[in-house]
Amino acid sequence: MNSSSIVEPRKWVQSLVEDLLENCKQNRLFTDSDERIWDKPLVGVSRGDDPYFRFLKEDIGDFYWLPEDAFATEYRDYAVSPAQLAIVCWVLPHTKVTRREHRKQTKYPCERWSRSRLYGEEVNNYLRGEVRDALIEAGFPAVSPMLLPEFRRTDSGKYGYASSWSERHTAFVSGLGTFGLSDGLITPLGKSIRVGSVIAKIDIEPDPRPYESHNEYCLYFYDKSCQKCVDRCPVGAINEEAGHDKVACSEYIRLKTTPYNLSEYNLEIKGCGLCQVKIPCEFGIPARKRKHEATAD
Ligand code: SF4
Ligand code: SF4
Repeated sequence: MNSSSIVEPRKWVQSLVEDLLENCKQNRLFTDSDERIWDKPLVGVSRGDDPYFRFLKEDIGDFYWLPEDAFATEYRDYAVSPAQLAIVCWVLPHTKVTRREHRKQTKYPCERWSRSRLYGEEVNNYLRGEVRDALIEAGFPAVSPMLLPEFRRTDSGKYGYASSWSERHTAFVSGLGTFGLSDGLITPLGKSIRVGSVIAKIDIEPDPRPYESHNEYCLYFYDKSCQKCVDRCPVGAINEEAGHDKVACSEYIRLKTTPYNLSEYNLEIKGCGLCQVKIPCEFGIPARKRKHEATAD
C-alpha cells in the first residue's frame, strides 16, 4: 500500500483501525477462550489546526503538546504546518459481558474489568504502534503520542496530574464524545471505554463535532436530572461542586483497588471504573438527551 493507491484516506484509516482490532490475537480476555476484550471501535478524525488544541495547551499548561509538538519530537527537521496534520482517534468499548459483571460490583472492580484494563491497554498500545507504522509504510509520516519516549505525566498545578497528551481530549476534538460529571468521555458507545490516537501528515477532512460544549451529553449538565456516577463512587470522589476529585480517586485506587486486583486476581493493575457502569451514559449518549435532539429536529 502506498499513498497514491489510497483513494479515500478517511475510509482507509477507518478500515485500518477496525481490521487491526478484528485480527488482533491479543484482543482476548482469557488465554483459554475467544472472549474479546474490546468490541468494534469508533473512529474519528480531527485536524492539527483545530483551535481546540491550542485552547487545551493554554488551559492545561505549557507541557501539553499541540499535534505539531508531538509530531516534531520524531520529525525534528521536517517542515510541517498544523493544518497538514490529521489526528486519527479511536474509542474501544468494553463488551456487554464485562460491563454486566462490573455492574454488580460496588467497591472493587470485577476480574473482567481488571483484565481489560491491563491486557486491553496492551491491545491499545498495539493499535497505536500498528496504525502509526501502517501510515508510515503508506508514505504518511506519523507518530503515536503515547508511545513517544518524551511522553510525560506531571503535576499540572491547575488540574492535578496531567500528561503531555490526553487521548480523551483528543477524542473530544475528533467528534467522538463529550465529558461527564465524573470526567469520563461519553461517546455514542457509552463511557465504558478506552481511547487511542495517532498523528500523521495526511490529508483527511475532519469529522464533524456534533456538539457545542464540552459536557453536552451529560444529563447533569443538560438538565441536572442525573448524578448516578456520584452514587456509584465508593469514596465520594465525584461531586456536584468539584466534579471529579482526582486525588481522592487515585488514593482509593492506590490503597484499595490495586492491592485487591493483586490479591484477588493476581493482576498488577491500577483501576476502578465503577463510575463507568450502571449509569445512563454507560452504553451511549443518554436517551433523554437523544430524545430532545430528535424532537428538536
Ligand atoms: S452518570 Fe449521569 S451525571 Fe454522571 S456522567 Fe453520566 S449522565 Fe452525567
Ligand atoms: S474510578 Fe475513581 S471516581 Fe470512579 S468510582 Fe472509582 S474511585 Fe470513584
